[in-house]
Amino acid sequence: MKLRGSLQLRHVDVGSCNGCEVEITSALAPDYDAGQYGARLVASPRHADGLLVTGVVTHNMDGPLRQTLAALPRPSVIVACGDCAVNGGIFLGAQGVSGPLDGVVTPDVVIPGCPPHPRDIVAALRSVSGR
Ligand code: SF4
Repeated sequence: MKLRGSLQLRHVDVGSCNGCEVEITSALAPDYDAGQYGARLVASPRHADGLLVTGVVTHNMDGPLRQTLAALPRPSVIVACGDCAVNGGIFLGAQGVSGPLDGVVTPDVVIPGCPPHPRDIVAALRSVSGR
């Protein structure tokens, strides 16, 4: 899905180590400034164009992730940020882990890396916002 200049995302951490969150914070901060390309985080899935998901899906977050997906307007875009969300990463098979994101929903955009560089996060968000 390609939008017209604006991309509002609800971020959901389904089991990350927080490394990806550090890089997302940098991507949104002035150095990389994803906001100038229309991308920003919002507090509710009901206000969002899609989800920005980090981490491997844990048993504890499987239900909340599905509830958040159900609350999204349609159509929506699903962005998997970091190897854990893309393919399970280093935690795949660990106790408490259900699996990668595509076991619940197929991502539209994947951002590989452990963690991905803020430049790659901004480039991926721009590929959707169209700016
Ligand atoms: S991809 Fe790497 S940095 Fe991101 S949550 Fe997984 S282990 Fe942490």
